[in-house]
Amino acid sequence: MYHHIQTDSLVLSRFAVSLRSFQRQIGWLTQKGYETISLERLGSAIQGQETLPRKPVIITFDDGYQSVWDHAKPILDQSGFTATVFLVSQAIGKRNIWDLPKSNPILPCMGEATCRRLLDDGWQIGSHGLNHLRLSELAPKALNEEITGSKIFLEQLFDCEITTFCYPHGAWNDMVQENVKRAGYQMACATSSKSATVTGDPWALRRVKIKGSDNLLDFKRKISNWYLAYRGWRKR
Ligand SMILES: [Zn+2]
Repeated sequence: MYHHIQTDSLVLSRFAVSLRSFQRQIGWLTQKGYETISLERLGSAIQGQETLPRKPVIITFDDGYQSVWDHAKPILDQSGFTATVFLVSQAIGKRNIWDLPKSNPILPCMGEATCRRLLDDGWQIGSHGLNHLRLSELAPKALNEEITGSKIFLEQLFDCEITTFCYPHGAWNDMVQENVKRAGYQMACATSSKSATVTGDPWALRRVKIKGSDNLLDFKRKISNWYLAYRGWRKR
């Protein structure tokens, strides 16, 4: 799980990874023979309809920052990798205003045309809600609007089916999850999950947060099966 790729030398925010680190991480995955797959493909594999490559990896970017297009995409292109971007419907072509109260850096988000180019290049788009709200705190009507409303919005804008959702702030509970299932999403990404295995709950897929402070050794450790199994055991 990535957010923003930072190129300046300012102090890294919690959700930024430097271009240099990102380059090293993707270089290592490439060298080790990893292949990126889509969440949809993982879904088919969970249902036993497809076999995955020997070393599959899914790369996701939350919030849809312009830096994904400017900096991450050229690096991923070199390795023939694709990724999934979780867009905040109301922030397309705008900024991450939800971060204002937390004094996180305010960054430009990709516009409609850029997102369309990602789709043309085989990337996937998923929903990250309409306004990046903490869904576990919303009343049913507002919750439905964020989940179903964002699906309809993105489907009309990009003329494709939106099958994946990502909980803003990683905040979800049973009601939120039920709503996501009812809205017709096939899978949802979280940061933590009640399931012991990574793929145990397709509507709360546990992801690994790559931080700006991670060195290459941390990165290798985080994407190892051992780490994922350990987290599953610890979080249960
Ligand atoms: Zn987010």
